[in-house]
Amino acid sequence: MDVRPAGGNAMTRPPGVLAILLIVAAVLPQVALARQIEPPPPAPETPPFRLPFDIPPGPGSWFLVQPYGSTRQAYLRRVSWYGGGQGVHFGVDFAAPCGTPVVAVDSGTIIKIDAQEHGAGPHNLLILHENGFVSLYGHLLERPPFAAFTPVQAGQAIGVTGDPDLTCSSRPHLHLEIRDRSLYYGYDPVNFIATDWDSLALVSPGMAFQRDLDAPRRWALPGDQPVVRFGDGLLNAFARPWPPDTLGW
Ligand SMILES: [Zn+2]
Repeated sequence: MDVRPAGGNAMTRPPGVLAILLIVAAVLPQVALARQIEPPPPAPETPPFRLPFDIPPGPGSWFLVQPYGSTRQAYLRRVSWYGGGQGVHFGVDFAAPCGTPVVAVDSGTIIKIDAQEHGAGPHNLLILHENGFVSLYGHLLERPPFAAFTPVQAGQAIGVTGDPDLTCSSRPHLHLEIRDRSLYYGYDPVNFIATDWDSLALVSPGMAFQRDLDAPRRWALPGDQPVVRFGDGLLNAFARPWPPDTLGW
């Protein structure tokens, strides 16, 4: 007695069934991918956070040294230093002497300390805030004295500034990032921190943005910069960059 299923093998199965199977096999990975990669949550309409310093800006305390986004400095190192963040500067840099106290931009919970996967050494700290966004404080001088999941208040001291070169004389600064809860997306802190960014930008020595002559008005101002998706391709692989590339890094 023949006990094979009525459908028979692939050779005898109606061709329509095979076609449907092939279509399902082709579409399934895309459905899974779409589920995995959620779009970036929108930034709040009004900046919810405060500055990460309790002292006023100035040449002897802290000042804005490099904004977030398609900066000239990041463009020149878009593959080496900033390749993981689509080639743009995915935080904002505040120059400050080593040991300058850093405070939490809002209340929240410390979720990571010295997370190597986020760079910004020698020490860093991440806080998840109640609105679902995360602040990352990079290039801290010492390991912050907290355990993971410690709650913090807005304005609470969470560490002191350091220098990525470990000299405290080459480029001591705080690298501050704002990310979504998934940590996949980086945002322009200008849209999250309530302060007079225009005045801070006036005295910043590193304000230049890299221009794309095919879209010369795009990403030309603080607060008008792209959201970064970490791990994705370069945003600034411009065919007609201005100024021209001089390093090719
Ligand atoms: Zn930085």
